Amino acid sequence: MNIDPYSTEFDSFMWSLKKTIFSNLDVNQIIIKIDGQELTTIGEYNYEGGIKREIDESANISVRLVPDVPNPVIVIDPGHGGIYNHAVAIDGALEKNIALDVALNLKNYLEAKGATVILTRSTDTQLSNDLNTDLKMRADIANNNNANMFISIHCNGGVASSNGVEAFWDSDHDVSTSKRLANEITYKISSRHGISQRYNRENNLAVLRNSNMTAVLVELGFITNASDYSSLDSLADRDAMAYSMYLGIRNFWWGY
Ligand SMILES: [Zn+2]
Repeated sequence: MNIDPYSTEFDSFMWSLKKTIFSNLDVNQIIIKIDGQELTTIGEYNYEGGIKREIDESANISVRLVPDVPNPVIVIDPGHGGIYNHAVAIDGALEKNIALDVALNLKNYLEAKGATVILTRSTDTQLSNDLNTDLKMRADIANNNNANMFISIHCNGGVASSNGVEAFWDSDHDVSTSKRLANEITYKISSRHGISQRYNRENNLAVLRNSNMTAVLVELGFITNASDYSSLDSLADRDAMAYSMYLGIRNFWWGY
């Protein structure tokens, strides 16, 4: 972004950053680069303090958030599994297996970035034969590991014309961070795979309601729609989808 550091736009930008992000995310400083060069002398800004401005001239300024926890714990939940097949794709593939393929690839990308990643399942299995217990257990894995993020991966099913990527968050906890994570992920999926953006919204689903951190459930697209499914119908496509999710998560946590 390009903002003149002496403009009121810059002040209001820093103020809104403080209000919307600092109060909701464990961020301890902002690194500011001017014309590509990092200026650490002016780069520190925290929730209590203000920005120190020792800039001689207007220049291209980039801003990067530096989280307090550089390497987050992320719980990835491949939806369904085992006795729970759920949606069936136009070629007979099952949502539970598509979600698992994407999750396994996403785990690799996030671990390479330094995150600690825990899967709620790494094989085609349910967590419990009782559905409510199964859903509760998925959130509990995130709660018990003090995860910074819980991300549940699903695919939609419906009539052939229904299409689009969408993501949900709970209305009772971590709303603004969850909403931002949902938007970062679906934006990457939509823009990189040409899948239309449906309605990201609050949706008090069991796994989201029972988790106690930033938590989203992503519907990657409709596997009953030929166009959406063309981004999910092969292992290579599921890997590419995982990479898009990774880019969204990276934006959310690492700020780029
Ligand atoms: Zn599902």
